[in-house]
This record gives sequence, C-alpha cells and structure tokens, in this order.
Amino acid sequence: MTPRVAIIGGGYGGLAAAWELTRRGITPIVLESDDTVGGLAGSFDVNGERLERFYHHWFTSDTHVAELARELGTEDRIVYRATRTGLYFANHVFRLSSPLDVLRFTPLSPLARVRLGLLALRARAVRHWLALETLTAEEWLVRLGGREVFDVVWRPLLEGKFGPYAGEVSAVWFWNKLKLRGGSRNNGGSESLAYYRGGFATLAEQLAHAIRDAGGEVRTNEAVRKLLVSDDARVLGVRTDRESIPADAVLATPALPIVSDLVQPHAPAAYVKQLRRIPYLANVCLVLELDRSLSDTYWLNVNDPGFPFVGIIEHTNFEPAATYAGRHIVYLSKYLPADSEMYAMSDDALLEFSIPHLERMFPQFERRWIQAHHVWRARYAQPVVVLGYSALIPATTTPLNGLFLSSMAQVYPEDRGTNYAIREGRRAGATIARALTTRSHATLSEVSASR
Ligand SMILES: Cc1cc2nc3c(=O)[nH]c(=O)nc-3n(C[C@H](O)[C@H](O)[C@H](O)COP(=O)(O)OP(=O)(O)OC[C@H]3O[C@@H](n4cnc5c(N)ncnc54)[C@H](O)[C@@H]3O)c2cc1C
Repeated sequence: MTPRVAIIGGGYGGLAAAWELTRRGITPIVLESDDTVGGLAGSFDVNGERLERFYHHWFTSDTHVAELARELGTEDRIVYRATRTGLYFANHVFRLSSPLDVLRFTPLSPLARVRLGLLALRARAVRHWLALETLTAEEWLVRLGGREVFDVVWRPLLEGKFGPYAGEVSAVWFWNKLKLRGGSRNNGGSESLAYYRGGFATLAEQLAHAIRDAGGEVRTNEAVRKLLVSDDARVLGVRTDRESIPADAVLATPALPIVSDLVQPHAPAAYVKQLRRIPYLANVCLVLELDRSLSDTYWLNVNDPGFPFVGIIEHTNFEPAATYAGRHIVYLSKYLPADSEMYAMSDDALLEFSIPHLERMFPQFERRWIQAHHVWRARYAQPVVVLGYSALIPATTTPLNGLFLSSMAQVYPEDRGTNYAIREGRRAGATIARALTTRSHATLSEVSASR
C-alpha cells in the first residue's frame, strides 16, 4: 500500500510539502480550514480578478518560487518589474529607490546620508549571521549607521512593525531584511520585484491541481480538530468535522500556537510550552479600491508615529490598474498585538478612522475616490524574531511519532515569505518521505526476519 500523509494547512508550505511527496511516490491529503488554498497569500475577488488579501511580491532572489513554477510549466507567468520605494517623514514623501535618492534624503545630515548608504552595503557583506543573534536590531543598526540614522530611519520602522516588541527584535531579522531588499536591485541600484500573472492565489491553485493530478487530495473547508494518537504516542491520523482520516504520517503547517493546541492532549507539557514561546503579531490590512492613483510610489514606509499604519502599498504601481478593470488598489498595513483596539475595529470603523490620516498625508486625496473597501485580518501574521531565536525554533520532528512540523516561525535566518514556505515545505516533504521509506524497509525486514 502507498503510504498516506495528512497535511494540516493548504498555504504555500502545506502545498509545497504535498507536491514534494507526490514526486516521491507518496499520496498526500491536504486539509485546509479556509474556503480557498494559499493561506496568508490567499486572495479575494476584485472586478473578477484575484487580489491578495495582504500585499505580496517576490524578490529576485526568491529562487524556490521560480523553480516550483518551472516544474509546473508556468514560469512565464512570473513578471519582474522596477518598483518605487518611498519614505513618509515630517509630512513629506521622500523617494528612496536608488543610492542617489539616499544622498538626496534631506531629513538626514550629509554625513548621515553617506552612513545610511554604507550601512546597506555593510549589512550585505555580513557572512556570520550567528554572531548577530546576541544583538538587538537597535544595537546593531546604531553600531553600523550611527544614532541619527537609527532615530530617523530605523526606529520608526521597527516600532511601526513590532510595536511593543521593537526593543526585543534581533539584529538577524533586520540584517536579513536589508540583505533581501538590497539583493533585489538592478545594476543602477533600483529595486526590481516579481509578481505572478493572476496573483499568488493562482500559483497556489495551480499547485493544488498538480497535486490532484498526481493522485493527491486537496480539500478546503475542512479544519483539522484533533490528532488521532495511539497510547504509545504514535500519530495515526487526524479528525475533521466530517470524518477521521487515517494517515501514516501527519505534517502540521499552521502557526505554532495552533499546532500547540492540537498536540496538547498528547505531547509532553515541556514541548507544548516550547511551541508557545515564540511571540506573534497580528496584521490588519485595509484595502482600498480607488478610481485614481494615490501617488506614484509602490511601497511607502511610514516613519511618522502619528500615522497609524506602518506602510502604504499601492499595488497598482506594480501590477497595472487595468488588471482590475481600472481600479487602483491601495493597502494600508498595520502589525499589532491581537488584543489591540485597532484589531478589533469593525471594517467601517477602520475606514473612518483611516480617512483623516490619508487626507493629511495626501492633501489631494478625497474620500469620494474610494469605490470599495475591504479589511483583512490575520491573527498569526508575523513571528517576532527575538534574541537567540535559533534556540527557540522547534525541530521538524516532534515527540509524537509520525507527527512533523513545518511552520512559518521555523523559517530562519530568513524571515517568513512564500519562497521560504515552499523551501521548508519541500524539505519537510522529503524528510517524511525518507522516514516512511526507512520505516517500510524496517517493516519489511522485520517481516522477513520473522518468517
Ligand atoms: C501582511 C503580510 C504581507 C506579506 N507579504 C509577503 C510578500 O510580499 N511576499 C511573500 O512571499 N510573503 C509575504 N508574506 C508572508 C507569506 O504570506 C507567508 O510567509 C506564507 O504565506 C506562509 O505560508 P505557510 O503555508 O507557512 O503558512 P500559512 O499561509 O499561514 O498557511 C497555514 C494554513 O493552515 C490553515 N490552518 C490553520 N489551522 C488549521 C486547521 N486546524 N486545519 C486545517 N487548516 C488549518 C490556515 O488556514 C492556512 O491556510 C506576507 C504576510 C503578511 C501577513
């Protein structure tokens, strides 16, 4: 009998693991609680076109995505485009797309501008990132670029993104961000990012089709409620609202707090505690459909503590508005603790709360430009990479025999992202395939020994 593997979660990680298993002759069954696949990179409909609930792009260094698309024969859907990055500071939008823009960044003294430019180069030259694990992002950034650069450029970004955790964020997280963004530039120093024609959800759906074509199953609207575990701590399958699904192995891909609830009745308390050690931030995104463009910038970092969002991403300065029948798409993004007042606001209240801030930031903006609005919330949007993070990450194998783990928080030293979800999902798929093959060999030799 072909072994069967149940995969909890149909995000990029779960689907990539399933794809890897099919390529190794093992039948996966993916169980996704949401009504679509794609997880955090899932989408909704805008004028008949799929749009990410949360803004998404790839960097040119995201090779695992390109490789997957090659295998699916859809590589020609990946498009690379130059993008404009800016920074909002003291009531002005400053362009920060190229090295020349950095030299023209007047909020900093001329010396500090040079230090900012050099900081990016020095960050990219770091080879031994483990040495950064004992430094906070602040300590490292001040050391590299000086206090002035930190206070104007980095502090507001750190505080905007990590709120109460800003002082605990590891230098490794920031180093990796600088490396990624710096590495996604062309020869002139301008940023080039990648998108998928049809949106990220299309790639996830194509992957789900390929898994089904290869004999696997992908089910949506099917949440896993329980693990089925024998008395000797061997995982025998999963229980959903509809049925019990037997499996030779189970891979869990949701956020660690969700996995910890599933394993709690069966695993040692110390393990459950380990899964709860990494803090997560939630995210709320207000998505506006406008009848015209807000600005010419794709990615605007907000370094103004009076503005409640950390970034304004005008998606249609990346993927043309024509894709969405002329609608201009703007995301207002905020990372925050899940118990924040802003996270609990109703969709309409969040819109009303945001409009005066938008009017202040873009004086030409009028609320009548808004044709529709949507609000998306993710409870586990960003694991917080704190000091000594490598010691906090749980392994792919678990104390429960037959249960494996591949979750966003295990991506390290890189930060979460679909590219790494694919890499880690495939690795987990390969690990499970090896474990099952070894086990079936062991079983065969036990059988032959007993004859
Ligand atoms: C605001 C924001 C912006 C981002 N921007 C980018 C970007 O520009 N580029 C990029 O590459 N990445 C970006 N990311 C990150 C990227 O979306 C994630 O890293 C990636 O999608 C994680 O995939 P995953 O499969 O590991 O996890 P998830 O996508 O979280 O998938 C886990 C899945 O498990 C399901 N699940 C949970 N519990 C159960 C259960 N009990 N039973 C069954 N299913 C369950 C969930 O519904 C979910 O679909 C962004 C994320 C956010 C929040």
